[in-house]
Amino acid sequence: MGSEDPKVLIVEDDADIGQLLTSMLGREGYSVTLATTGRDGIRAFHESRPQLVILDVGLPDLDGWQVLERIRDMSDTPILVLTARSSERDKVRGLNAGADDYLTKPFSRIELLARLQAIRRRQTTATPTRTTFDDGRIRVDFTRQEVVVDNELVVLTPIEFRLLSALVRHVGQILSADQLVEFAWQDPTGLAPARVKYAVLRLRRKLSWDFSEDSPIETVRGFGYRYVPNVRS
Ligand code: CA
Repeated sequence: MGSEDPKVLIVEDDADIGQLLTSMLGREGYSVTLATTGRDGIRAFHESRPQLVILDVGLPDLDGWQVLERIRDMSDTPILVLTARSSERDKVRGLNAGADDYLTKPFSRIELLARLQAIRRRQTTATPTRTTFDDGRIRVDFTRQEVVVDNELVVLTPIEFRLLSALVRHVGQILSADQLVEFAWQDPTGLAPARVKYAVLRLRRKLSWDFSEDSPIETVRGFGYRYVPNVRS
């Protein structure tokens, strides 16, 4: 894990449990960020890029499931879900939604640390996620942050690159302006969705798709944008 402490993000609105987790994990050598609402949690995820997330299901604004979905849309960072209920239905829901594990309150320190250790062990042996997208029209290398169209390397700004990455990672799926704001901008607070429109226009132009009838980056009026699957590939 290198010389830096592993970063963990805790999203928990209960002050006592938040404090308890913070000091417990701090003692274990984690660098802890605590968020007390779903929105703050998503924002903190963008900012701190944690290696691990502990997520309470019952939050005051977005519920934990929504937060889980948003994080899963962007990354494979392991997520341990905390819930007050120990229903099988919640557990199945959590694991289906992409949680890595599940812990019912109240839990013991030993239990929590054991779960976290197991998650981290799996993480280091896990298969890498997809690192490129190539549909015959465009090749996006997510690791090297390179984009190639018609054998030409296209230079994009970081925002344009993240915008394009979000679209092709969700090929065929409509993403709203709000979702794209969250994917592409580091600090999404107070950002007008109108900016997305202009960023998409610039992105299309750079990829030489602005005048082409069959630009794969489609505007779905009233809903958002999507990258249309290449049926010829
Ligand atoms: Ca709660």
